[in-house]
Amino acid sequence: MKFIPIVSHMNPDGDAVGAVMGIYYFLRHKGLDAVPMLPDPAPERFRWMDEDSVILNFRENEERITTLLSEAELIIALDFNNLSRIDAMASVFRAAKARKVLIDHHLYPQTECFDQVFSTPDISSASELAFQILLDYCGNDISQIPFECLNALTAGMLSDTNSFNNSVFPSTMRMAAMAIENKVDLEELNRRLFHIHREERVRMIGHCLLNAMVVRKDLEMAYVFIDKEIKRKFCYQKGDGDGLVNQLLDIPEVHYAIVLTEDPDRIRVSVRSKTGYSAQKLCASKFNGGGHEKASGGHIRIAAAEVPAYVERSMAEYLKEMNADE
Ligand code: 5GP
Ligand code: MN
Repeated sequence: MKFIPIVSHMNPDGDAVGAVMGIYYFLRHKGLDAVPMLPDPAPERFRWMDEDSVILNFRENEERITTLLSEAELIIALDFNNLSRIDAMASVFRAAKARKVLIDHHLYPQTECFDQVFSTPDISSASELAFQILLDYCGNDISQIPFECLNALTAGMLSDTNSFNNSVFPSTMRMAAMAIENKVDLEELNRRLFHIHREERVRMIGHCLLNAMVVRKDLEMAYVFIDKEIKRKFCYQKGDGDGLVNQLLDIPEVHYAIVLTEDPDRIRVSVRSKTGYSAQKLCASKFNGGGHEKASGGHIRIAAAEVPAYVERSMAEYLKEMNADE
């Protein structure tokens, strides 16, 4: 029996980890051999979803992942719309002969790279879409879905909705209700996903809001640049900046919130927008990225010292472009 690789995106978030683990537990329950794999390791705060450390990451297991992908007959891809999102794994993925199935909720999926595409942008998360597909496959008999699977998928859904704050659809609430009926502890999942942080991380957020946040109401935006220095001072670990971007959006005059993070090879960009404003268009136009209408990301490759000027100039240009379009 060949292994079934289950793949998700780089800088994995809770939906990526929840969805790969959910599908993994389901296939395992069916007696199938599957291997979850990611381009880079998941942040520490999602590791509890992978108790037995079954997820491989390409940085540390390049050879094994290359073999598994090239020998596979079926590959399941989750929570990404474009092969650029799986980074260094993209060329191996593209070359693999397997039947490739995508389950995703982003706009504009790269359909030509897959044999079968389940794409629903009007849904909370890839985890919710995976749940719907599995439930349908089981003839709506939820007892055929093992608890571990339901728990991981619910964690993915909670994570992408920021605990039911964004991207909530009637189907999302139906899934939550079914999860609770089947012994998933939402309170415990919320605690694990959103309310366990190291002291340094809590202090870093305070520092960023007090000292690093720039609010430019004339440009409808607020931004924070988490540079090397902030990272060093607060012993930054992967994922420590998650959630900060939502706080910037609390300011009524701010329509676009941007958090930029200095990584060794690039500056990662995370954008959120209010209803009626497009984080997706801003990221596609100025930050080499995309995502969802109101939650998107991307990257830039410029010197750290140039970041504030770049962000402010880009925003001014973008607002002009939007005004010209109207
Ligand atoms: P986050 O700000 O949480 O990192 O990402 C927000 C959303 O944007 C996620 O759904 C993520 O998949 C998407 N996203 C993040 N970075 C990129 C990127 O570089 N390219 C594209 N196309 N989407 C991204
Ligand atoms: Mn997602």
